[in-house]
Amino acid sequence: MSSQFTPIQFLKGVGPKRAEAFHALKIHTTMDLLQYVPRAYLDRSTIFSLSDLAERCRKQTLFSSETDITLADVNFRNEATVIVRIKSLHRREFANGRKMLIAVIKDESSQTAELVFFQQIQYYERLLKEEQLYVVSGSPEFEERYRKLQFHHPAIEKVNEEDEELYSKGVILPQYPMTKELKNAGVWMALVRRLAITALETEHEKIREVFPAEILNRNNLPDRKTAFYALHAPNNLREIGEARKRMKFEELFFFEMVLALRKRGTKVKEQGVFVEPKSAKARQLLDRLPFELTGAQKKVLNEIAEDFRSGKPMNRLLQGDVGSGKTIVSVFAMLMAIESGYQTLIMAPTEILAEQHYRSITALLEGMDVNVVQLVGGQKKKVRTAVNNEISSGKAHIIVGTHALFSGMSNKSETLIEYNKIGLMVIDEQHRFGVEQRAKLRSLAMKSHKTDEPPVPHILVMSATPIPRTLSMTLYGDLDVSIINEMPKNRKPIKTKVIFESDLHKYFEFIKQEVHKGRQAYIVYPLVEQSEKMELKSATEHHEFLSNNVFQGMKVGLLHGQMLWYEKDDAMKAFKDRGYDIMVATTVVEVGIDIPNATVMLIENAERFGLSQLHQLRGRVGRGAEQSYCYLATKDHFRYHIGKKPEELSSARATVLRLKTMEDTTDGFQIAEVDLKLRGPGDILGTRQSGLPEFRYTDLISDGDIVSIARKEAFALIEQDPHLRKPEHRELRSAFLDEYSAGHGFFDVA
Ligand code: ADP
Ligand code: MG
Repeated sequence: MSSQFTPIQFLKGVGPKRAEAFHALKIHTTMDLLQYVPRAYLDRSTIFSLSDLAERCRKQTLFSSETDITLADVNFRNEATVIVRIKSLHRREFANGRKMLIAVIKDESSQTAELVFFQQIQYYERLLKEEQLYVVSGSPEFEERYRKLQFHHPAIEKVNEEDEELYSKGVILPQYPMTKELKNAGVWMALVRRLAITALETEHEKIREVFPAEILNRNNLPDRKTAFYALHAPNNLREIGEARKRMKFEELFFFEMVLALRKRGTKVKEQGVFVEPKSAKARQLLDRLPFELTGAQKKVLNEIAEDFRSGKPMNRLLQGDVGSGKTIVSVFAMLMAIESGYQTLIMAPTEILAEQHYRSITALLEGMDVNVVQLVGGQKKKVRTAVNNEISSGKAHIIVGTHALFSGMSNKSETLIEYNKIGLMVIDEQHRFGVEQRAKLRSLAMKSHKTDEPPVPHILVMSATPIPRTLSMTLYGDLDVSIINEMPKNRKPIKTKVIFESDLHKYFEFIKQEVHKGRQAYIVYPLVEQSEKMELKSATEHHEFLSNNVFQGMKVGLLHGQMLWYEKDDAMKAFKDRGYDIMVATTVVEVGIDIPNATVMLIENAERFGLSQLHQLRGRVGRGAEQSYCYLATKDHFRYHIGKKPEELSSARATVLRLKTMEDTTDGFQIAEVDLKLRGPGDILGTRQSGLPEFRYTDLISDGDIVSIARKEAFALIEQDPHLRKPEHRELRSAFLDEYSAGHGFFDVA
């Protein structure tokens, strides 16, 4: 679609060199340029004066909205933009050799403020000129003590005369992200703005609407052309807000459409394994449980029964905190499948967890005539052969294992396992299972039916990482989601406390007492190796120190990420069997490990962890009848809000407040929401690749509402016109196929 738009180098003012700088940003055509979204807008009527800003910071009402659309909605969250002149520049040096550059700024109000730089000092010294006008964007901080308004390393853009004049006339000026490449090629902001306007004026007829009018009207969204005008040549802030909403909606709609098509593909075409939810065995288990299922567990079981009844394959994600009782729910589901004549699998991320499942499921079903077997590495050949026989003959009802369960399914593997009519696969995940992997598992399991047109087995994915709805809708969009948000009643809440390093000895003493009572404890550190830069304590070093000094005479184990998996497994098994009193560990302590005797979780350098991570770690204790404790240790200077270095000053209070959230709540979903707001999606989903798509317009942190609306609309549209055949969907279809070349697979050949 974009190919009919004029290549960027043909615009007036763009030569080959500048074109190259644009190409580096993937801007090849005028349409690409129109998609290059301003990151903020300068508007005389709404821009903060410095005194205004100081007042708002003081009252902490920086972004409370008084009108429907404030500048804060339009500019990036948490950023304020001011237009200022430099009054003076000062360089400071500290005793430790650190340098800092301070630029005192002023505007027409009486308040002054400071721009503070700790890095690239020379660069800024050269860049900043006294009396020159600048646009400054950043998160302002107000120092109560010195009544000082500061920006640390803000984004700075010189305002040239042309812009100064437009601005003073009240024109709203879009602020484009300016790269070094652009600047080096002599492209300044005003030029980008002019090019965008030229593109609109000369090419606006090529901008075609993709949505039927009905969808736009229903959601109060401007059409595409109007939106592009508003983004690049706005008349007012409201227009910009609406345009941005429209572009977010479009982006999310396409994304959700893929999910809707995928989901429909499985639902419509596929015949699920037939499972009768009414099961005598399930009833029997229910009757003999020593406790009552929680309301949330019952609700989820009903949802699963509903899936079974539908005749379509289940694809369900079960989310719930560690200890909320997911496993039991999956056992009920497996019993239903078994009674309908199928084999079932449950896969755990590690051997120790597989072993744990094997033991607890065996105990749960004892005497019920259900045959549970375990498949793990390192089994003796004789044992393995016997297990394999039970599996292939269909005698094995529940097969517990690690992902080896599935490698044994593909023909490539040496140890081919012959499954016998798999009806349900339960994945107790820690590693995230992507769409493709699930599809592969499903097709492998279908082979075990050994018929030409096997039914599709059901999949239940269990996750102990509570994820805010916005994220789960995007990440697991093709799954139905069930949530257990209620803990069994018999749990004692874990006592959580934020503590400071100089008090650590008291808590070490407390751990000793607990150990003397026969309990066990975890002490967790963020990193394995001492890193000079971050001054973090390393688990290895501390293990040495703690075992030789503080906890002399006690058995102190060590667990860290550099160990091989079986070494980790061995260490955890030893801890579980009381071979250690204390386990010094990095974050590798398994999710879901069940050591009821462990009652203390002490986390050092807690400020280095995300809240969700802290919550996961805390979940390792509190699994038995005894009272459990979680201590989050952090730096002393956070306590007094005194920074050793100036840049630490302001974050100190925030850090302590953030950690205190953990004292206030044990609800993983609530914690995940806070985390999402404070640190973004990467933190909740783990630092490794989060699996989230990259969005141009959407910010998953604040755009949850639009995600829901786009999802609803996309799913409804695919429901009524799955192949986008209706004439009013023609543009949408072609735009979609343009965007997702893989999209062709979803539609009938036209
Ligand atoms: P999860 O897999 O969600 O981490 P589990 O299924 O392992 O949690 O359950 C943790 C413990 O709680 C198990 O010992 C289980 O038997 C017990 N349990 C499960 N449901 C309940 C309930 N409704 N009431 C009391 N205890 C329960
Ligand atoms: Mg579990």
